[in-house]
Amino acid sequence: MDSSGSSDGGGPPPERIPRAGKYRSAWKILKEEVEGIGSMKRPGTDVPRETDVLIIGGGVIGSSVAYWIKERNPKGSNVVVVERDPVYSRAATMLSAGGIRHQFSIPENVQLSMFASEFFTNIKEHLSVIHESPPDIGFNHQGYLFLAAPRDAQKMAENVYMQNELGARVVLLTKSQLAEKYPWLNLDGVECGSLGLEGEGWIDPWSLLRAFKQKNISLGTKYIHGELVDFEFLTKQDHGAGDRNLRLDSGVIRTKDGREHEIRFSVVINCGGPWAADVAEMAKIGLGDEELVYPLPVEPRKRFVYVTHCPDAPMLDFPFVIDPSGLYVRREGYGGNYIVGKSPASEEEEPDIGNFEVDYDLYDEQIWPAVASRVPAFNKSKLKSAWAGYYDYNTYDQNLVIGPHPYHRQMVFACGLSGHGLQHSVGVGRAVSELILDTDYQTIDLSRFHFDRFINNTAIEEQKIV
Ligand SMILES: Cc1cc2nc3c(=O)[nH]c(=O)nc-3n(C[C@H](O)[C@H](O)[C@H](O)COP(=O)(O)OP(=O)(O)OC[C@H]3O[C@@H](n4cnc5c(N)ncnc54)[C@H](O)[C@@H]3O)c2cc1C
Repeated sequence: MDSSGSSDGGGPPPERIPRAGKYRSAWKILKEEVEGIGSMKRPGTDVPRETDVLIIGGGVIGSSVAYWIKERNPKGSNVVVVERDPVYSRAATMLSAGGIRHQFSIPENVQLSMFASEFFTNIKEHLSVIHESPPDIGFNHQGYLFLAAPRDAQKMAENVYMQNELGARVVLLTKSQLAEKYPWLNLDGVECGSLGLEGEGWIDPWSLLRAFKQKNISLGTKYIHGELVDFEFLTKQDHGAGDRNLRLDSGVIRTKDGREHEIRFSVVINCGGPWAADVAEMAKIGLGDEELVYPLPVEPRKRFVYVTHCPDAPMLDFPFVIDPSGLYVRREGYGGNYIVGKSPASEEEEPDIGNFEVDYDLYDEQIWPAVASRVPAFNKSKLKSAWAGYYDYNTYDQNLVIGPHPYHRQMVFACGLSGHGLQHSVGVGRAVSELILDTDYQTIDLSRFHFDRFINNTAIEEQKIV
């Protein structure tokens, strides 16, 4: 059923993991990487002894952090990115649906997305590299259409007001306006909708990551193909406080030849995506006492994206539809294809993360009937392919974790974005650069998203995690 994981003629695919967007296989990506497509150099295994900034994880978040630090301070900071999987076969970035929306219920999330739209629109100005073709991330401008059940209508109206106050262009539509504008929608159980008029849409995640990497390498960032396997500590003056006397000093990087290298750093940025908690644990976060008691609440959560062909759906006039149930459907290209998905409604429904298998029964039994009920044209749709990927899921409040750890202040987090990290990568990278270069936020104040909230119990709940 999954055509996108097929081999490209040069041998069997190492994984049946299709790439988001244009469905190229992980094998083809691997081949491109190995052949050194374009000028993007392959990451080396030559580990320097020290660096100012060590970034763990070279996905879109780590690469954005590297970009902003070097872009703002080209000569002042050495930046090393450590990535264990240079083909990103399991990285959230590569398996993302690529969506950008301004319609969040938390103001900072709206601001981060608005900044992303501006950056993506002007990507060539930001990420072009001399003697290379300018980056093209395939920004499809198309608004999200959130549909609200009667019980959520008031909250939706408040959100739309707040979004517009922040400069987003979002309009609230009554049920009759929806019926007139989208006659192909079944509006049973819907009270109203909110439609993004500007800046929303989707991009190709791989193209964004590739553009960041290419730019970063041109700015002098070093990408290392290796895995962080441990940290080394210095002992602070002994006050008999156990782990609290330890100061992070260096990372131990295992390269593919099996050798281990120590690299000292001034600051280490945890951009480990779905695996960020493993990186935190190596610093004894969650394994010590006092502030070190609290683990980083980020873990992989498997999500499925289904690609279906529906010749009868209205294509160009089809917004990125978010059903009140959390089901989403959007156009993919112009050939009658759509992508569809839905996060589980409860913890009990969370899929097993032990493999990357796609649950096709879920599609047949729940997803397809739900999308066909909302858009009856999908009764005649046909599943073409599907993929599974891990959300970098913050189990505490499904939101970003940023800023220094309260004890290990040399570890700065940039993780836990739970399904909106692609669009927020740009603003998060800039914010981390502000913390490092300016010692505080200069643009969007993200201090509410610091680790302290797990200690002080101040969750920041976003209303819709789709
Ligand atoms: C199915 C799906 C759909 C999504 N849809 C959207 C969407 O529409 N819009 C949106 O904004 N976001 C979306 N997201 C979320 C978004 O993709 C992620 O939030 C974002 O890509 C996270 O980027 P990252 O760099 O933190 O993580 P990743 O891309 O996972 O990168 C982390 C990297 O860290 C590396 N790493 C981890 N530990 C180590 C170590 N010890 N040593 C060396 N390297 C290490 C890993 O190999 C990995 O490459 C989606 C995600 C999925 C899975």
